[in-house]
Amino acid sequence: MTHHDPECIFCKIVRGDLPGNIVYHDEQVTAFHDINPIAPVHVLIVPNKHIPSVDGVEPADEPLVGHMFTVARQVAQTLGLSRGYRLIVNTGDHAGQVVFHLHMHLLGGRALGPMLAR
Ligand code: 5GP
Ligand code: ZN
Repeated sequence: MTHHDPECIFCKIVRGDLPGNIVYHDEQVTAFHDINPIAPVHVLIVPNKHIPSVDGVEPADEPLVGHMFTVARQVAQTLGLSRGYRLIVNTGDHAGQVVFHLHMHLLGGRALGPMLAR
């Protein structure tokens, strides 16, 4: 079973083969600043193993996916987002997913406005 895709940019960041502005790293998950932030804080939280999207999540991944939320809370606290933050996981074409390595966007540092764009 492969745990990384040699062509995947987020796998490269996780493995240290591509520079990333890493804010958190452990044996399961890595968090780094988005290269094109849309808010004062825009961090991406990714599993270290390559899962293309939520469509590739399996029951055995539940502890890993749960851990992504715990890390989101820790990073939000570390970066001072005491007034709140938003977590977004785009999945597939209609959601505008561009990078096919599962990632959670952590957005904060300003009032983010209505939840959904129409
Ligand atoms: P998606 O639309 O797939 O949910 O979002 C992908 C995100 O990855 C975008 O916000 C984009 O700015 C970010 N991104 C794309 N390439 C890179 C990269 O090489 N490094 C970092 N740090 N972020 C990236
Ligand atoms: Zn990957």
